[in-house]
Amino acid sequence: MSPTTQVSAADLVTALLRDDLRGQTAYGAPQLDVAVRLNTNENSYDVPPDVVAAITAAVADVAVHLNRYPDRELVSVRKALAHYLTGQTGVPLTVDQLWAANGSNEVLQHLVQAFGGAGRTALGFTPAYSMHPNIARTMGTTWVDGTRGAPSGTFDLTAESAAEQVRAYQPHLVFLCSPNNPTGTALDLDVVQAVLDAAPRSLVVVDEAYAEFARPGTPSAVSLLADHPLLVVTRTMSKAFALAGARLGYLAGAPELLDALRLVRLPYHLSDPTQAVALAALAHDASLLRTVEAIKAQRDRIVAELGALGYPPVPSDANFVLFGGLVDAPATWQTLLEHGVLVRDVGLAGYLRVTAGTPAETDAFLAAVADLPDSHRRPTPADPSPTGSPPLPQEPHP
Ligand code: PMP
Repeated sequence: MSPTTQVSAADLVTALLRDDLRGQTAYGAPQLDVAVRLNTNENSYDVPPDVVAAITAAVADVAVHLNRYPDRELVSVRKALAHYLTGQTGVPLTVDQLWAANGSNEVLQHLVQAFGGAGRTALGFTPAYSMHPNIARTMGTTWVDGTRGAPSGTFDLTAESAAEQVRAYQPHLVFLCSPNNPTGTALDLDVVQAVLDAAPRSLVVVDEAYAEFARPGTPSAVSLLADHPLLVVTRTMSKAFALAGARLGYLAGAPELLDALRLVRLPYHLSDPTQAVALAALAHDASLLRTVEAIKAQRDRIVAELGALGYPPVPSDANFVLFGGLVDAPATWQTLLEHGVLVRDVGLAGYLRVTAGTPAETDAFLAAVADLPDSHRRPTPADPSPTGSPPLPQEPHP
């Protein structure tokens, strides 16, 4: 009998797992079969028929050549992304400033692989996108949970506070998220500029996954790229483009910085079918992006109506809304699920996050919220029988 047969597989794996990964939990937004799924900020609209036809034809074209590796440099995709992002931001960009991978998560991973790692520190401003610390840590980078909002109690991040935290921690990488997930609000560019000034030798990542949903007049950090070779702006086709299933994320940054990413990406990381889908989609960007205004209208409706229902929303530039006023967020999450509406518990005491989708989905969500017993809502001073319960303490975002 081999010496390992009495030991369970789980014990064997745990014993061999990297020390820093032991006891960690995996990214786990539930993928439940529920009528109204508003928990992962997907675009609720199907891909329109003209784009389905273009994608199908494009994939058929490459199928015959799948015996060959794809273009390792993904030049056509990067050219098309440069064209799109130039049009979207008004900032002229060229192919050598664009990089792409399987979702912006992989783009973020390339950045951490190249610039993070053992002995390096990354700073983010919590609550923000939970994959920033997750990716940093899985690459052995020390993560520092910076704060936002203190002491005002809102989720705003001021230029002064961001710069002060950067100076205090001297991180190798700084993560900013604008519009910020899960709070929804975009950053003023003076915050990005203050971080760049405070960290002239650090990589500054501005995650703009939701930029297309921002309220009018919200500038992109792409406009700061020219003067800052260590600034990168990441974007995705998963949200506004309604292509989460295609897995295509990208960044804009200095050509020299892209060379560093070539050192860590796997060869041929973006498959031919993925490149074909992205190209077909980018050739039909106007058709795909037609849903953005409709989603923004639902987002604004959710903000207005949640406020009226007594669950204060955070102002949103994204396709989701964070709302508070909850006595017990996990309990409310469960009750909404029992009404067939799946939202996101982001681990913030008293808050839940809901994605803005179709009008029918908003109807279902708002009806389920309106049906919540009063016991779910934290009493406010305006309530007839105030119990004066103090605000719940905030837990760190996982
Ligand atoms: N950044 C942010 C802020 C996100 O919310 C998400 C997805 N939820 C991503 C990046 C990753 O998206 P993807 O990998 O699909 O591009």
